[in-house]
Amino acid sequence: MTAASTDTATLFIDGAWTASSDGGTREIRNPADGELVGVVSEATREDTEKAIAAARAAFDRGDWSSVPAPERGDFLLKVAARLRERKDEFAMAETLDTGKRLVESEIDMDDIANAFAYFGKMAGSNAGRVVDAGDASVVSRIEYEPVGVCGLIAPWNYPLLQAAWKIAPALAAGCTFILKPSELTPHTSILMMQVLEELGLPRGVANLVLGAGAVAGAPLSEHPDVDLVSFTGGVSTGRIIAESAAKTVKKIALELGGKNPNVIFADADFDAALDNALNAAFVHSGQVCSAGARLLVEEPIAERFVDELVRRAKQIRLGGPFDEATETGPLISPEHREKVTAYVAKAVEEGARIRCGGTWGEGDLAKGWFYLPTVLDNVKRASNALLEEAFGPVVTVETFNGEDEAVELANDTDYGLAGAVWTQDAGKSQRVARRMRAGTVWINDFHPYLPQAEWGGFGRSGFGRELGLAGLSEYQEAKHIYHNTNPQVTNWFTDHENENGKDGQAS
Ligand code: NAD
Repeated sequence: MTAASTDTATLFIDGAWTASSDGGTREIRNPADGELVGVVSEATREDTEKAIAAARAAFDRGDWSSVPAPERGDFLLKVAARLRERKDEFAMAETLDTGKRLVESEIDMDDIANAFAYFGKMAGSNAGRVVDAGDASVVSRIEYEPVGVCGLIAPWNYPLLQAAWKIAPALAAGCTFILKPSELTPHTSILMMQVLEELGLPRGVANLVLGAGAVAGAPLSEHPDVDLVSFTGGVSTGRIIAESAAKTVKKIALELGGKNPNVIFADADFDAALDNALNAAFVHSGQVCSAGARLLVEEPIAERFVDELVRRAKQIRLGGPFDEATETGPLISPEHREKVTAYVAKAVEEGARIRCGGTWGEGDLAKGWFYLPTVLDNVKRASNALLEEAFGPVVTVETFNGEDEAVELANDTDYGLAGAVWTQDAGKSQRVARRMRAGTVWINDFHPYLPQAEWGGFGRSGFGRELGLAGLSEYQEAKHIYHNTNPQVTNWFTDHENENGKDGQAS
């Protein structure tokens, strides 16, 4: 199957490629030009229930969990190697679905291979621990068992990367799973299943359902046979999933949105801060959960910094993903562009001023879902544009004086995914970073992450962590095994019938 395939047996259930049970399909279109990329199966609830049954049966048979952890790790290393071999094909598929620049998809594929390699190496190293029970006749130990059947739900902005952050630790831990990628971006998930199949993962361990969240995805949080749901996406969907998962008391991890502050002090390296502020706000047209969408600039440099930001933002070259001159691409869909358009209109209604952008792409860009890089200033505190994610190329500007006000503004959000502080004063950078309420804080940088460092949010950005040690723990249950090698009668409860002797006679 290739990215532009019209093969509609694209659900992977119990080790077999299958079409939707009602024959439903969905067209996938390239957001840069609206061209047809492929037609894939659209799963029904019954298809997802079949996938859950397959994952449950595979887990209960122990087909994967009984494979020694170091061997599971070796398997993940093989996946990483195969992804590197097939990088071009995967990157092309990701780019056609998302419209992002090919070079960005290539970077994503490297990151995905690195995530598999990281969890591959981790798998064998987390063998539990012995606990000192304070009694020489007791052997007490902690073992980490797989949680069980996992529902993995991913968004469209980094389709395979977000899925990989879930698939790799789930497999490392010995779980089975059902992956539900965004209905808009299915192709790299299909390719990923091909790799897992070809490398010999037992049937039923990895399952793929495609389609609308409310149909193909919903059973994952509702069904009693799913033990864990790991979701990356928007807050409103996260709420629905949390409520529905509560009914069967599942473990859940929610990686939600962000409204991330990028704090620039007057003593920052101006050029580096400016360059990175553009990157923070506009890379992938702002469709990044950790986008630096709230720019906070210290008063003494604010005017110059914002003027330069606007000057540079106007020059950003939008275009198709294969044009080497392109610096950023389109929004994912016409519906999403309508949302961003309405968001900016509301900001203006609430008093914000558009310094640049605020319109759709024209000319050649009119074929796709392009929206121009947009800078908003004069944004009132507590207005929607400061509180809610645009998830598009929109940055708001606020100004501050001194550390306390910087921290107050940075933390004035219900979200807490990420943020950055720019200053050449090391002490100040550390103080501010510590006071910022976010899962990741960059000092004099924006956007880098490491597979070995936990990723996740405070507050409305969700809970649970991906990557790092905690990223594996999400997929494990800790079990305490207490072994008394020298059992004794304790006489906690007395045998009253025999308290005067075995024959019941007073002695
Ligand atoms: P979304 O919430 O609309 O959809 C995410 C996924 O959930 C999709 O696969 C969708 O089909 C599925 N879904 C929708 N309703 C469902 C339901 N009732 N049951 C089960 N699944 C359902 O999000 P999106 O528009 O695809 O992605 C954008 C959002 O994702 C943004 O808010 C962004 O900040 C967030 N995001 C967060 C991170 C992070 O690491 N915190 C990373 C990437 C994206």
